Amino acid sequence: MGHALGGGSPVRVFTTQDRWNSLAHKISTMGDFKPEIILEKSGVVAIDPRDPAAVEAVNALPEPCLVTVADHTVMPVIPAFRLLAARLDPRHPVLLKDRLDDACEPPAASLTALLAAATRLGSLLCDGIGDAILVRGEPGPAASLRLAYNILQAAGTRIFKTDYVACPSCGRTLFNLQHTTQKIRAATGHLKGVRIAVMGCIVNGPGEMADADFGYVGGAPGKINLYVGKTPVQFNIPEAAAVTRLIGLIREHGKWLEPPAGSEDNT
Ligand code: SF4
Repeated sequence: MGHALGGGSPVRVFTTQDRWNSLAHKISTMGDFKPEIILEKSGVVAIDPRDPAAVEAVNALPEPCLVTVADHTVMPVIPAFRLLAARLDPRHPVLLKDRLDDACEPPAASLTALLAAATRLGSLLCDGIGDAILVRGEPGPAASLRLAYNILQAAGTRIFKTDYVACPSCGRTLFNLQHTTQKIRAATGHLKGVRIAVMGCIVNGPGEMADADFGYVGGAPGKINLYVGKTPVQFNIPEAAAVTRLIGLIREHGKWLEPPAGSEDNT
């Protein structure tokens, strides 16, 4: 379907033919949450990773081929895919699925599906396993795609929107962390692949910003320090002006985009 898969390609988002059909009329308007590959057209080979003959047959194939764990394999999802990845020749890309029992269990409620998919797929992606993912525990076709992309983003596998790192807040926090994070998200949520840290104080905040591109850190009561990477570049900005100054800093570093007119909040 025109998307490279495996090797250094981005981790792809699969959907089923049924779900594709139900979304077909609006795929062009789905922005960053479009389905990329239809499961039934992908030629994926499904095997039980405990079956040495099946693994050997796939490993003997002359060309790389997309492989997944077969439905109804009686194993929990995470160990099943870890076993597959351990036994499979690494030239074969792997399709991860959040469930191996799609046909025999009723669809889970959305929150349950979200937690199960995030735990299973997120763990595997953080292990470095997986070249494509399929979320099917979430019953809504569009919601399952949003969930798939959000899992990729949260795992740091495929950054397609702004990423935020915030401290949990404590007695040292120098501003209303939740309110400020929401304000920053509202102003910057449309950017692509920018990571912003929002930290309550300069005592521990800068050390906890991980690999953020920009930092918004409480410097003193009502005053904010701004960082580029781990370097402080602006000090003691009044809180009321700090989000505007942060936007200016993002702009100076060539990472600002004007928000699209009428864009949806997909955060
Ligand atoms: S960064 Fe500062 S305010 Fe935030 S949790 Fe750590 S010590 Fe508390």
